[in-house]
Amino acid sequence: MTDHAVVIAGGGPTGLMLAGELALAGIDVVIVERRPSQDLDGSRAGGLHSRTIEVLDQRGIAERFLSEGQKHPSVGYAYIPLNISDFPTRHNYLLALWQSRFEHILAGWIDELRVPILRGREVVGLAQDDVGVDVELSGDTSFRAQYLVGCDGGRSAVRQAAGIDFPGLDPSTSWMIAEVEMDEQPEIGVRPEGGGIGPVNRVDGGGPFGVVLKERQVDHTGKPTLQDLSAALTVAYGTDFGAHSPTWISRFTDMSRQAASYRQGRVLLGGDAAHVHPPQGGQGLNTGVQDAVNLGWKLAQVVDKRSPEDLLDTYHAERHPVGARVLHNTMAQVALSNPDDRHRALHDTMTELLGMDEPRRRFAAMLSGLDIHYDLGEGHPLLGRRMPDLDVHTADGPTRVYSLLRSARPVLLNLGEPGGYDISPWASRVRLVDAEHDGPWELPVLGEVAAPRAVLIRPDGHVAWTGDLTDPELPRALATWFGAATVAR
Ligand SMILES: Cc1cc2nc3c(=O)[nH]c(=O)nc-3n(C[C@H](O)[C@H](O)[C@H](O)COP(=O)(O)OP(=O)(O)OC[C@H]3O[C@@H](n4cnc5c(N)ncnc54)[C@H](O)[C@@H]3O)c2cc1C
Repeated sequence: MTDHAVVIAGGGPTGLMLAGELALAGIDVVIVERRPSQDLDGSRAGGLHSRTIEVLDQRGIAERFLSEGQKHPSVGYAYIPLNISDFPTRHNYLLALWQSRFEHILAGWIDELRVPILRGREVVGLAQDDVGVDVELSGDTSFRAQYLVGCDGGRSAVRQAAGIDFPGLDPSTSWMIAEVEMDEQPEIGVRPEGGGIGPVNRVDGGGPFGVVLKERQVDHTGKPTLQDLSAALTVAYGTDFGAHSPTWISRFTDMSRQAASYRQGRVLLGGDAAHVHPPQGGQGLNTGVQDAVNLGWKLAQVVDKRSPEDLLDTYHAERHPVGARVLHNTMAQVALSNPDDRHRALHDTMTELLGMDEPRRRFAAMLSGLDIHYDLGEGHPLLGRRMPDLDVHTADGPTRVYSLLRSARPVLLNLGEPGGYDISPWASRVRLVDAEHDGPWELPVLGEVAAPRAVLIRPDGHVAWTGDLTDPELPRALATWFGAATVAR
């Protein structure tokens, strides 16, 4: 039995991101991944939303993804395009990038951070006690860890072994999804009932083509075949366009379920292990990556004994409502893509409503993750929201706020008189930066807000406190989020 501080089950998007966050904080972490390599069967997620690109930017790795993807000015709600190019973020677009590339690039970062990945092995069981977890692996081995995080997808073995409930809705609709060559040029574009056909290579076009088709029945036994795909294409288009040589064929449904608790003692869940929903709006991978960024620094502080264990409860408190909202909006999007006349009328009505400025901004901010607001109580509108990536001047010269977050450490950004605060009781944990910013403070949906004198920014980029450095709430906020004050030696 080998000891690790944290074992992560699953090296998909969520597990990789979490491993990176923990490694940045110096935590001994290992990933156990069932797949023998990072290669993915099928393309799955097709893009990154603004907030996900922002969190990658906070770690200084956004450029790696931007250089391989294509920027689109709109996000889609039930296939209704919502333009976000006027949003106050440096990443006011959707980045089209297949999940297979996303995972490879992220795995490259994890490799640089020297996180070990045990491939071709599965977590098959667990037993937790007051001080740790025995993590049982396939191949008759085990790990002893302080914490186990299940990032092992929708059928999570960790969630099941921990006995965490997964309530929600059974599927009402099934879609076939495939990548396939076609002898004839297919009809490219979205279908009225959802799905459609598009080239896998979005830049050069041509085959193979990605196909998504709504199926007539929900329940199926066995995997779909090329024959099934040809038949479904013929029903939808009157021809199968000479489909042949599929790279892969699969199915997905609109099942919507969410873990009743994201934490049970020393076992935590993130990503699809914590929430599954249909892909409308393209939010699954994005939500998982953002779960990881919320959990990483909290788990690191608890493992390091800088913070008490109950800091981990804020992970569920903050991320469960975010997941619930994603489930809710995907359910609505599935209903809106019903092809019958009444639902089409509803879809037309929504299209008209979302053509108006305020509804467009609200829905687009929801899909892109820019409106996420953790409930940290009453106060300045920034409290609990993401910190905007402002250009600032510091003693080291011009920079921007997200560059200050690269090492995943909290920052107390002082925009008032320099040198007005004694950070020494938290100096080993929190970086005090004196800075100037001349421009406006603008938030998505809310618009311009009053410039605060100082801001306490958590490693995930969310604002934990704003105010004047003399505010007695500041030491309380520092202690709540980053542990008790220590006496400088
Ligand atoms: C058709 C389709 C389209 C999609 N489109 C989008 C989109 O446009 N945008 C978007 O954001 N999301 C989209 N998604 C959702 C997205 O693919 C998932 O939300 C995302 O992959 C979740 O990442 P994850 O790391 O949480 O889980 P997963 O990607 O499922 O990764 C889990 C990992 O755990 C491993 N594993 C499983 N069990 C074990 C075990 N017991 N032990 C060890 N390892 C294990 C698996 O091999 C896998 O690597 C789509 C999904 C589908 C099916």
